[in-house]
Amino acid sequence: MLDKIYVALIHYPVYTKFGDIKTTAITNLDVHDIGRTCRTYNIKKYFVVNNLLSQRSIVNAVLNYWKVGKGGYLNPSRKEALKYVFLKKYYEDVLEDIKDSEGTYPIVATTSAKKWDKKRNYSYKEMAKYVETESKPILILFGTGYGLAEEIIESSHILIEPIRGFGDYNHLSVRAAAAISLDRIIGEKVMKGGNYASHN
Ligand code: SAM
Repeated sequence: MLDKIYVALIHYPVYTKFGDIKTTAITNLDVHDIGRTCRTYNIKKYFVVNNLLSQRSIVNAVLNYWKVGKGGYLNPSRKEALKYVFLKKYYEDVLEDIKDSEGTYPIVATTSAKKWDKKRNYSYKEMAKYVETESKPILILFGTGYGLAEEIIESSHILIEPIRGFGDYNHLSVRAAAAISLDRIIGEKVMKGGNYASHN
C-alpha cells in the first residue's frame, strides 16, 4: 500500500571498490537529500543504517539539530522532512522496527546499478503496480559504496531493475537513484490522482 512504504540506506554490508565488504561512512547529504525525497513521496520512515557508533553519533547530532534544535526552528520544512529519518545499527533492526509497527515483516526490495543474473529483475512498471496492490509493508533498500552485498540482494524478495540513462555511463549517486526510483514507483500515482498516501 502506498502508505506502508519504507526506505533504508545501508552502510553495511556493502562492497568497497576492491570488492570486499565493509561499513561505509555516512554522507550527510544522503541523510538530508534522501530524507527530503522520502517526505515528498510520503515514505513512512527513512532508516539510515550504520553499525559504527562514531558514525551514528555524528548523525544523531545532525538529526537533533534539525528535529529539536535551532535548525528546525529556522527551517521548518527541513524539520518536517527529517522528522521521519531514523538511525538504526543493523538492517535486521529495521525489519524489527517495521514488524513492531505493522505487525508483520516487510516485503524487501533491493536496488543495484548492476543486473544480477540469479534474480528476476522487477521493472519499475511492475513495482509501481506492486506497491498499489500489496497489502504488506514494503521496504526499499539502497546501498552505499560500491553497492549492496550479494547476501542482501539474494535474501530480498524483489530486485528492482537498474535505472538506465542513455548511453553506457552508469554512476548515479544514491541520492539520485533514490529520487528516480521513488518517482518511477510512486510519482505516477500522485500525478494521475491515484491513492494519496498520508502521514497519520
Ligand atoms: N555500482 C554500485 C551498484 O552496483 O549498486 C553503485 C553504488 S551507488 C554509489 C549506491 C547505491 O545507489 C546502489 O547500492 C543502489 O542502491 C543505488 N544505485 C546507484 N545506481 C543505480 C542504478 N543505476 N539503478 C538502481 N540503483 C542504483
